[in-house]
Amino acid sequence: MKRNPTAFLKKEYDELVKNSFDWKLRILKTGSTPHSVVDGKEVIMLCSNNYLNLSNHPRLIKGAVDAAKKFGAGSGSVRAIAGTMELHMEVERKLAKFKRTESSLIYQTGFAANAGLIPQLVSKGDIIISDELNHGSIIDGVRLTRTDRAVYKHCDMGELEKVLKDADKKYNRILIITDGVFSMDGDIAPVDQIVKLANEYGAMTYADDAHGEGVIGPDGRGIGAHFGIEGKIDVEMGTFSKAFGVVGGLIAGSQDLVNFAYNKSRTWLLSGSHPPAVAGAQLAAIDVLETEPQHVKNLWDNTKYFKKELNSMGFDTGHSETPITPVIVGESSKAKELSNRLYDEGVFALPIVFPMVARDKARIRTMMNAGLTKKDLDFALEKFEKLGKKLEII
Ligand SMILES: *Cc1c(COP(=O)(O)O)cnc(C)c1O
Repeated sequence: MKRNPTAFLKKEYDELVKNSFDWKLRILKTGSTPHSVVDGKEVIMLCSNNYLNLSNHPRLIKGAVDAAKKFGAGSGSVRAIAGTMELHMEVERKLAKFKRTESSLIYQTGFAANAGLIPQLVSKGDIIISDELNHGSIIDGVRLTRTDRAVYKHCDMGELEKVLKDADKKYNRILIITDGVFSMDGDIAPVDQIVKLANEYGAMTYADDAHGEGVIGPDGRGIGAHFGIEGKIDVEMGTFSKAFGVVGGLIAGSQDLVNFAYNKSRTWLLSGSHPPAVAGAQLAAIDVLETEPQHVKNLWDNTKYFKKELNSMGFDTGHSETPITPVIVGESSKAKELSNRLYDEGVFALPIVFPMVARDKARIRTMMNAGLTKKDLDFALEKFEKLGKKLEII
């Protein structure tokens, strides 16, 4: 057949642009710092995942530089063949200690952890039960299985129990997966109740704590520590790319889990390991979390202040319990306009619009940073108030 085999590329892209669903890349001239230069303009950064500002911490930078100087720019191989350095092992030992679990394993990214491990935990005759608002990388991990699936309403434990009761009779293994902190609304999954239900029905539990790692729980030790159930979640998965300020996926749990995971996850087995600089920075990040509690404290002080002020201005910030604070404005077009005007005034925060959230729940999603000062926050708040009134949001 005579066809233009690549015509769809432009056609689909043009369609995205027409509907304003395309991603316009914003270019940073600085590091990801509390004051960043984005597209040539200095702004207060309110949409990076660098919650603790660790990506700019001198100890992390030194960790990266020292490791690169000593061990080179690349690792030379996948972990399973010749790409496991003493550094990688040290990160895993330190991380398990930090998470109070028996063992841990580092993946290239959090996405690679979900895509590589989830499909190995279940097979035909099993079932995966997911929260309806789980992250896209979980959804892709689930899609790589031939397992049956069920979805429960967001954080609805009654519905989860109903599904479990039914699944108990029909399936061999049962795997419950949830985000720990949900990235759009900033709410926290009731993982303590999920673990309790899982124990009753003999199900496995998997919590993706990408936004909780380094943020919630004492010293930022994550979702297990937050609920005082360390070591009770079968798979605690997380990332070094957010609060830890580096990059890399992680799981923490039993030695049995880790032995199984690294022998079975294709993303782990078939993809190069982290360069020494990455491992060096990861090590330093854990060290900093263990020895400098001020970063987590600052993050939460800033978060509480910012939320309180937004609420007293009359903004709807949903039911966030974390440093992710959505400022819900309604129509998608209004959220986009607010974001653009905030940028013009020196505040960088992106809109989240339909279809990522409901049509009437478009919002600006703000992410707090431990490195912002009260003066920075007041500056941002003043702009929110001024523009909120102008656009008749408050
Ligand atoms: C960011 C994120 C990931 C992916 O983590 P990376 O290490 O950046 O690949 C996975 N799950 C959730 C919930 C996330 O927010």
